Amino acid sequence: QKAEWEKLKNEQTLTADGKHYTVAANIGTPKDLTGVVDNGAEAIGLYRTEFLYMDSAELPSEDDQFEAYKAVLEGMKGKPVVVRTMDIGGDKHLPYLPLPEEMNPFLGYRAIRISLDRQDIFRTQLRALLRASVYGKLQIMFPMIATLQEFRAAKQIFEEEKQKLQDKGVKVDNDIQTGIMIEIPAAAVLADQFAKEVDFFSIGTNDLIQYTMAADRGNEHVSYLYQPYNPSILRLVKNVIDAAHKEGKWAGMCGEAAGDPIMVPLLLGMGLDEYSMSATSVLKIRSLMKRLSTADMKAIADKAMNELTTNDEVAAMVKAATSQK
Ligand code: PEP
Ligand code: MG
Repeated sequence: QKAEWEKLKNEQTLTADGKHYTVAANIGTPKDLTGVVDNGAEAIGLYRTEFLYMDSAELPSEDDQFEAYKAVLEGMKGKPVVVRTMDIGGDKHLPYLPLPEEMNPFLGYRAIRISLDRQDIFRTQLRALLRASVYGKLQIMFPMIATLQEFRAAKQIFEEEKQKLQDKGVKVDNDIQTGIMIEIPAAAVLADQFAKEVDFFSIGTNDLIQYTMAADRGNEHVSYLYQPYNPSILRLVKNVIDAAHKEGKWAGMCGEAAGDPIMVPLLLGMGLDEYSMSATSVLKIRSLMKRLSTADMKAIADKAMNELTTNDEVAAMVKAATSQK
């Protein structure tokens, strides 16, 4: 099986009926590039930049960040790279950035909420990204967006930093797409409105499931509620994909579910454009997609969302329909 997957390394991801979808990889540091290239990922769908902050004894400087972003963009040789701005908070902490003690850190001061408050940190990161943008195809994504005001504020700051750099004669890519993570139910529900203003969506199922089911993603006592195939989650995901397409935008997924062989047939049936996963899953998923037809998967996805009622029922149906054990 491994040898068969190997052959797909330099191929595009095509379904049995010849449709192309993007199979991308998630990374945490520039060191992960080797795995991405070795497994033939067509893009980086999520670069979690918080590791740059977590692996450092102090706030990483603009130049240190610039070097990291440049290395990733160059390493991908023009293939798209979605860089997510800092997602600190929740369970991720920085020794040099004391965060408030909170009753519910996952519902608290986290990600874009910190970035919009600590604009010094956010603007530094955006400048580093803008300067690196000329070395490849950069796309920027904001994490934990709940409201349109947050997206507009982030975008406005991005535009300001871009203008300031250009005024100084610094070259930046003029076509950087800006998008958001869909990981808060409010944004998933309002996807039609967001789709008019963003360039793309990337669905973060790890958090979207946690917040939709009200079940802490790290708490083993409630881990049975991590239900990616629950029709409630599937309907939210479908709403996001349809909203994007209606405005001519693209939708990806970068949570764990994007590389899950049970979820992928459902996502294909809903028309998800990009699947971003750990690099080691890329060839397996490309091979799976090759034997699925989008028309068949659409029927499967429709049935899952409209006729079935539980996570387990959906999983059993997908397994049977795609001959997976
Ligand atoms: C997600 O929430 O699904 C996601 C990809 O982000 P993270 O796992 O980094 O919170
Ligand atoms: Mg998340």
